[in-house]
Amino acid sequence: MPQTLPLVDPDNKCSRCTNSKCCTYITQHLDTPRSKADFRLLLWQVSHHGVSIYKDSDGWFLLVEGKCEHLQEGGGCGIYEDRPEICRDYSNDWCEFDQPAEEGFDLYFADYASLLSYCRRRFRRWEL
Ligand code: SF4
Ligand code: SF4
Repeated sequence: MPQTLPLVDPDNKCSRCTNSKCCTYITQHLDTPRSKADFRLLLWQVSHHGVSIYKDSDGWFLLVEGKCEHLQEGGGCGIYEDRPEICRDYSNDWCEFDQPAEEGFDLYFADYASLLSYCRRRFRRWEL
């Protein structure tokens, strides 16, 4: 008889998650960019490796890739008892285990070229 695995639910999900994606980046909320000067600053920021920018229903964010130094080989947290509040508050009800975060973004700029293309569409006279 084929073996059936127990269903994945929030209580066992993290123990099945092999890459612990939620511990491999940080995000920083940004003021909503409006002017060319605002976007020129974002163009500089997104030019850096590991930095991308997205907008979702909560606004604009800087996304910086970088694994937390406390993330253990097996996916556990090296400071679990003392982990920061933001880690304690993070809900796994619907997380990167279920769907890549990018799929929930309204806008996503992985690099300089993609943001520059957006700027050229958004500002009719971007070059001036
Ligand atoms: S919250 Fe989601 S992404 Fe993070 S370890 Fe748990 S299952 Fe994985
Ligand atoms: S402190 Fe622990 S739970 Fe928080 S991001 Fe680092 S490894 Fe993950």
